[in-house]
Amino acid sequence: MKGFAMLKIGETGWITKDVPACGPMDAICKPLALAPCTSDVHTVWAGAIGDRHNMILGHEAVGEVVEVGSLVKDFKVGDKVLVSAITPDWNSLEAQGGYAMHSGGMLSGWKFSNFKDGVFGEFFHVNDADGNLALLPDGMDLGAACMISDMVPTGFHGVELADVQFGDNVAVIGIGPVGLMSVAAAAIRGAANIYAVGSRKNCADLAREFGATDIINYREGDIVEQIMEKTHGAGVDRIVVAGGDNDTFDQAIRMLKPGGKIGNVNYLGEGDYVKIPRAEWGCGMGHKQIVGGLMPGGRLRSEKLARLVETNRIHPEKLITHRFTGLEHVEEALMLMKNKPADLIKPLVVIE
Ligand code: NDP
Ligand code: ZN
Repeated sequence: MKGFAMLKIGETGWITKDVPACGPMDAICKPLALAPCTSDVHTVWAGAIGDRHNMILGHEAVGEVVEVGSLVKDFKVGDKVLVSAITPDWNSLEAQGGYAMHSGGMLSGWKFSNFKDGVFGEFFHVNDADGNLALLPDGMDLGAACMISDMVPTGFHGVELADVQFGDNVAVIGIGPVGLMSVAAAAIRGAANIYAVGSRKNCADLAREFGATDIINYREGDIVEQIMEKTHGAGVDRIVVAGGDNDTFDQAIRMLKPGGKIGNVNYLGEGDYVKIPRAEWGCGMGHKQIVGGLMPGGRLRSEKLARLVETNRIHPEKLITHRFTGLEHVEEALMLMKNKPADLIKPLVVIE
């Protein structure tokens, strides 16, 4: 089979590999829709997780099952499925401890395009199929379905980590596709003011549609000053970090109230340290929490998030600004994700 791969840090290309083998609890799928992710960009061009050789990229997909292992109970050949980007080993001790995404070691629930070939191939392998696939609901748009792989669960996880409560004032730093889903999630959780930080107009427009009350443009001035002014010096209760860099935590701590929480889902691709301002962190005693998390994967989460799409509470298909048809276009789609033209939020590749 052919697949689009990371050849080494900074280099991508098409390669040929054997179709993956199916273990007793696994499934082999062919993709129906695929999307590249900013994480693929960090992995290839920042070398963020170290070098990888000839590893097929991609972790966001909707698929059709072409083979199942003998112990798989709930899926059969021909089923159309939502595929979680994070595919934990659900019988691991980490999963029993509540952190399935770290099953087998930190970040090890993230297998596609990390520890094994990803989904940008003619076929891909899914471990623990009963735990990690979900049936594609009838009639669901493939774009929305593909966003349930990663953009929706990750954006929502930022809000879970920040523990947004009714009436909270929330800042969402970064409103690419992930942060936009955090805005939608914060609105569902009952946030009051939602300050969405970004600069691209189409992202700002969609942020407003998803529930942002204010757009803060980081290119037009210090975001701490802008948000402190909007909150009359009080700061915000919760912050989701879905963009920026290692210094974003400096800004986030400065604009966070004591007792507040920062939920980070940004993938920090470069540098050795993040910066936390000592005095604004209450000299270590300010009860300002920072939690960073890989999104939880798995079937139950996919099914629940799909329900939110089916009940029209979220519209992840609106993230998709560029649609292609044919596997060969994943390369072009990934380059869009790398170069982030002003009119891009998220590209989708549909496979016929
Ligand atoms: P995008 O690059 O599309 O969006 C980044 C956002 O951050 C944009 O709104 C951008 O603004 C904004 N931004 C950039 N620089 C700054 C700055 N200095 N200060 C404030 N805002 C800034 O990324 P995605 O939405 O695709 O992904 C977000 C992050 O989430 C990535 O790092 C990705 O790898 C990660 N991720 C993490 C996962 C997890 O499980 N934790 C899973 C999937 C993704 P502008 O409008 O100017 O572009
Ligand atoms: Zn992703």
